[in-house]
Amino acid sequence: MAELVRFHNTVGGRESDSSTGRWLASMNPFTGEPWAEVPHCGVDDADAAVDAAHGAFVKGPWADMTATARGKLLRRLGDLIARDADKLAAIEVSDNGKLLAEMAGQLRYIPEWFHYFGGLADKIEGGVIPTDKPEMFTYTKREPLGVVVAITPWNSPLLLLTWKLAPALAAGNTIVIKPSEFTSCSTLALMALFKEAGFPEGVVNTVTGFGGEIGNALVSHPKVAKVAFTGGDATGAAVYQSAAKHIKHVTLELGGKSPNIIFADANIDDAVKGAISGIFAASGQTCIAGSRLLVQRSVYEEVSQRVVAFAKTARLGDPMEKTTQVGPITTLPQRDKVLGYIDVARGEGARCLLGGKRPEAPELAKGWFVEPTIFGDVSNEMRIAREEVFGPVLSIIPFEDEQHAIEIANDSIYGLASGVWTSSIRRAITMADKIRAGTVWVNTYRAVSFLAPFGGYKKSGVGRESGQHAIDEYLQTKCVWINLAEGVPDPFVLR
Ligand code: NAD
Repeated sequence: MAELVRFHNTVGGRESDSSTGRWLASMNPFTGEPWAEVPHCGVDDADAAVDAAHGAFVKGPWADMTATARGKLLRRLGDLIARDADKLAAIEVSDNGKLLAEMAGQLRYIPEWFHYFGGLADKIEGGVIPTDKPEMFTYTKREPLGVVVAITPWNSPLLLLTWKLAPALAAGNTIVIKPSEFTSCSTLALMALFKEAGFPEGVVNTVTGFGGEIGNALVSHPKVAKVAFTGGDATGAAVYQSAAKHIKHVTLELGGKSPNIIFADANIDDAVKGAISGIFAASGQTCIAGSRLLVQRSVYEEVSQRVVAFAKTARLGDPMEKTTQVGPITTLPQRDKVLGYIDVARGEGARCLLGGKRPEAPELAKGWFVEPTIFGDVSNEMRIAREEVFGPVLSIIPFEDEQHAIEIANDSIYGLASGVWTSSIRRAITMADKIRAGTVWVNTYRAVSFLAPFGGYKKSGVGRESGQHAIDEYLQTKCVWINLAEGVPDPFVLR
């Protein structure tokens, strides 16, 4: 077996391994074999990372740096990521199974977040308050929170990390990153670029290992001010609970069961492509997956058949190959979870129109693949329509009219994203008003930008990432009162 590539943590600007000397294998989902290893850290390592971040926040060059200088560092980092895009993309593909084509594109776009928030760093302004007390000069300042713990999932490690890092650093915080135990390698590789960009020691630190072992130590640590979490809703609830007990700021980006709604008046060619991109891109392992395809009854059969025909053409294969369209599932437990949901759907009486199993091609045998799978005759009461599968499994649900579509769309514990396919502007705007979700796409799907806020309604989360206001999630307001009058009046009376 080839030698495993070793990745190291960065703590206080230095390379750091686990204090117990343990290592954790990182698996390649296409070969089903380990390809790298990362430190298997424990609570002591988590404490050391928080101490380093806290030290960098309270003293040293970062604490004294101007916002303009911080912004320059962020923009330089963005340039370095663009330079190393291919290298980082290859690491992510080996570790995660995402397509090289998608990763190369993602890594060319990720620098935009660092450029944008780098530009925003010195535009964080307070204000002067014209209070009703003329003897007072009163102003506000926007200040960083302190140490931010960024906890990320396995499905899009670098992109989802970027959504946290760029605003948090622009605001002047310091960071401890806890990547997913399944896909830590790209995050650790990124650390070298922080050093090269000139970030002072301790501003960005990493600690790798299992959430169950070190997650709570990070979330409840007295020196941590904020937890920025992306992951499943059950873990998110546990993180929220622990953070509440210790009074931390929190943002949560959680799961989804997003409705992608096709009306009979839509351009059906486009809508079919939108349905495919909603569920089979990234093998359905995206929080925004349009996993419930709602189709108006009059075009239900036609759309179902055309979506199935299109999905049949999808090329499964090595994610490193340019021609591959559907890669493996990132982790073995997740592959088994997806297959389990397929059994559940069959048991509930949904009709399997495509896939429903592992592919038979011998060249895919070692990888953790699931065939693109489509169920028809799904009712919104079935578990397959209610629970997040996080894999290439589409449920097609018929609806009668606008009101019915809205009822089904909103009948979910989640509210992350949604799609509407229609040629009527009235209907597009009405649906956008009525759908309870953080994102509504009309005649498109899966568009994100550094400029546009992203986040969930209901159990899909708390707070927003990207866009101008994302920086507010990493700031707090101080109010300063300066007495301009001579003397202090009656000390027993509120002024
Ligand atoms: P997960 O909840 O299992 O793990 C997420 C992270 O939390 C990992 O780093 C894990 O180690 C850590 N963790 C686990 N237990 C912890 C604990 N007790 N305390 C602190 N941290 C802990 O999620 P996952 O399986 O890695 O990712 C898939 C999930 O992420 C899906 O539900 C998906 O919808 C969601 N997701 C949401 C978004 C979004 O932006 N809304 C984006 C991508 C993924």
